[in-house]
Amino acid sequence: MQKESLRELYIDELKDLYSAETQMVKALPKLAKASSDPQLRQAFEEHLRQTSDQVTRLEQIFEMLDEKPTGKKCLGMDGLVKEGSETIREEYEAAVKDAALISAAQRVEHYEIAGYGTVRTFAELLGESEHVILLEETLAEEKAADVKLSELADDINSRAVQSDSTEAADEDEEAVDSKRKTGKGTSRRVA
Ligand code: FE
Ligand code: ZN
Ligand code: FE
Repeated sequence: MQKESLRELYIDELKDLYSAETQMVKALPKLAKASSDPQLRQAFEEHLRQTSDQVTRLEQIFEMLDEKPTGKKCLGMDGLVKEGSETIREEYEAAVKDAALISAAQRVEHYEIAGYGTVRTFAELLGESEHVILLEETLAEEKAADVKLSELADDINSRAVQSDSTEAADEDEEAVDSKRKTGKGTSRRVA
């Protein structure tokens, strides 16, 4: 009886992830297009390919369960994608914009990591060992994507900081008060 309701929750969460992944299949090309750094663009394109595989894995699981993956909308991902779209529309200098895109993308990866960690554990509890293998593959990809974004952020953030000091030097000439610059410096730490 209890196992049956855990099974329902498991299927529900898988549907949520299916919705999340299909939303990202649409969002990742937009993130790639908005990137200035070629390596960042490449990372988004690479993760788009992985995301399509992740959709396929979920479809495989639903086939094994004899269930349909559709019928649920992941509102969490919907919110993250909306925030990402706002970031895409912002008119920052190139490196700062890339830093902002990474920030948005890492929120997505962490959200997915949480979701897959949970369903993987549920699959174990329900004795669905084939599902566990597929879910762990995806979980590993999400974690690797997050690490990759952090690595790219190292370089991009230092360029973003430099663009800030150039900007600050220009502003010095215009005698902008120092209080504002201090505030700026501390607000640009991403990832
Ligand atoms: Fe994913
Ligand atoms: Zn969700
Ligand atoms: Fe992902």
